[in-house]
Amino acid sequence: MIRIISVFLAFTFLLTPFSVLGQKGGFAEIKQLQSPQNPRLGFIIHGGAGVIKKGTLTPEQEAEYVKKLEESVTAGYKALQDGKKAVEAVEIAIRILEDSPLFNAGKGAVFTADGKNELDASIMEGKTLNAGAVAGLHHVKNPISLARAVMERSPHVMMIGDGAEVFAKEMGIELVAEKYFWTQRRWDALQQVIKEEKEKEKAKREREKGSGRLISASPTNEPIYAGMTPGQLLGENKFGTVGAVALDKDGNIAAGTSTGGMTNKKYGRVGDAPIIGAGTFANNNTCGVSATGWGEFFIRLGVARDISAQVEYRAMPVQQAADFVLKKVKALGGDGGVVVLDKFGNIGISFNSEGMYRAYIGPDGKPVVKIYEN
Ligand code: ASP
Repeated sequence: MIRIISVFLAFTFLLTPFSVLGQKGGFAEIKQLQSPQNPRLGFIIHGGAGVIKKGTLTPEQEAEYVKKLEESVTAGYKALQDGKKAVEAVEIAIRILEDSPLFNAGKGAVFTADGKNELDASIMEGKTLNAGAVAGLHHVKNPISLARAVMERSPHVMMIGDGAEVFAKEMGIELVAEKYFWTQRRWDALQQVIKEEKEKEKAKREREKGSGRLISASPTNEPIYAGMTPGQLLGENKFGTVGAVALDKDGNIAAGTSTGGMTNKKYGRVGDAPIIGAGTFANNNTCGVSATGWGEFFIRLGVARDISAQVEYRAMPVQQAADFVLKKVKALGGDGGVVVLDKFGNIGISFNSEGMYRAYIGPDGKPVVKIYEN
């Protein structure tokens, strides 16, 4: 009899936790999972979504990405195991990705149209709904740490540009020279987009000449990005933002996102990553979300907050909620992805781009790292 009961219990245990991708479990059954008697830790990160086709990365490059994602997810999870708060784990994991030139955040940030690196980040705590965000930074080595300082050590939620950097200095947060962010790969990506822009401009002038239309003396009077395809506007390495969501032993959720934005972004452009409710959201009653993708669409749809709302109002499992909202992004013409973690430790991953760098801690406590669709 005891054997039968233990087999039954083991079976139930195996079936219920961590329904990753395409989870079917209703909310009622997974509700048992996290309780003070059964604290569950959860950790998930992403390193951006975009055009990552199989075969475009060499095996060596692929191995480098996998190694860095594994290092980041393991460090964040270890922090949780050591009893640290979710927000701490998120900061630890994101700093590792920001320090790597592989990702479009911190050291590997993409270039703006005028050849600068301009960084944005945000962080949010699900227990208090406290949040911190920063945008338009040029000298802060780890924007996620400044976002956390805004949340915890200022009365504000969002700080931008020079003022945010003055605050960073006051808080003793590390500042670096602008050249720290310069990388050949991102520079080349910008040059490629500029070249494509020029070619498009030339083709347009020729078309106008052919149709006998009056050509303006200065063709650049028109915004150079008008009518450009996402590829032209964003460059080859379209995305690459980083983010993390953690669930700690006290059942608190935190989420954070950090980015250099999009290649060739124009003066003063701010994407979704530092917008609470668009690129980042966390609520202990629902879930934590970090997004990556074509930021304008994520802002317009309030993606992260919408996913949380689906969980809150419609009791949708996180995977379903993520898929549902990402469909809206696609319908509007945008692309990208999200990682989501709910208060029970369930994971949701959804993206409508070719691939998404991502990693999470599986039910066995081991890191799982993925790049392509499967
Ligand atoms: N979402 C970011 C932005 O629009 C870009 C990215 O995810 O890579 O700034």
